[in-house]
Amino acid sequence: MDICPKCGLPQHACVCEEIAKQEQKINIGLVKRKYGKYSTVVSGFGNDVNIKDIAKELKSELACGGTVKNNAIELQGDHKKAVTPILIRLGFSEDSITQ
Ligand SMILES: [Zn+2]
Repeated sequence: MDICPKCGLPQHACVCEEIAKQEQKINIGLVKRKYGKYSTVVSGFGNDVNIKDIAKELKSELACGGTVKNNAIELQGDHKKAVTPILIRLGFSEDSITQ
């Protein structure tokens, strides 16, 4: 049985990631790119959050391309409004998300 090194609970009972998600200060921004295209940048994730999983979820929900860099998720296109409800469904607190 795997034990979480942080809270000492078995992995299946570990709530570190849930707590981490509640404590994030997520920022959703819009960046203008070349040729009048936009990118949606979601930043502010802490180290306890699996940013790659979140990026994967956002990309499949929004059916868009995207990358993870510098601990931020960059999505192709303007998805500013659509990102928040998805993050909430993934366990983030609405209060922690700013646009
Ligand atoms: Zn834990």
